[in-house]
Amino acid sequence: MKIIMLGAPGAGKGTQAKRIANKYNIPHISTGDIFRANIKEKTELGNKAKEYMDKGELVPDDITIGMLLDRIHKDDCKNGFVLDGFPRTIPQAKSLTNALSELGEKIDYAINVDVPDESIISRMSGRRACLNCGNTYHIMYSAPKTENVCDNCGNELVIRDDDKPETVKKRLEVYHDQTQPLIDYYDNEKILASVDGTKDMEEVFLDIIAVLE
Ligand SMILES: [Zn+2]
Repeated sequence: MKIIMLGAPGAGKGTQAKRIANKYNIPHISTGDIFRANIKEKTELGNKAKEYMDKGELVPDDITIGMLLDRIHKDDCKNGFVLDGFPRTIPQAKSLTNALSELGEKIDYAINVDVPDESIISRMSGRRACLNCGNTYHIMYSAPKTENVCDNCGNELVIRDDDKPETVKKRLEVYHDQTQPLIDYYDNEKILASVDGTKDMEEVFLDIIAVLE
């Protein structure tokens, strides 16, 4: 069960990816984790990636895919994996398809958690954070006991820059420009399944399971 998660930033694909991983006992793999592990273990690819990052440059796709292939061939991936946050662009998707097909492998499902922009913007604008202890809240889904006050440490809660509507809109623009074309790409590959991500988190999860089973 080799799964790729697709969806806009804030669509909730990370949460669903974790739940899928738990249910099927397969690893949830994010590129951030792969980078950190390779750099920490000072692997050849990790060292190369770090050179680019230290210069403030983007890490070339072949290095990222190299690290990804290493990761998905570890023992814990023998029953599959859920990939979250990669690929983000058509060139990355094509490189991944090619690299896997050279090994006689392929992705089985690309799951698109579909949420309209307006819903994402309104969801994100409800987030609140404590800059003192790092706790996060949501005014609708996980509200603090006292409005605008951290349950944990009593500090005042703020809206992080990342959650402000203008920032969210910019991220969504990048997503529509670079990542949304992947939906058509995986549709052509006949492995795309879209689920309605505006539903309750539990329902979204059940819809995903229905696709996988
Ligand atoms: Zn706090």
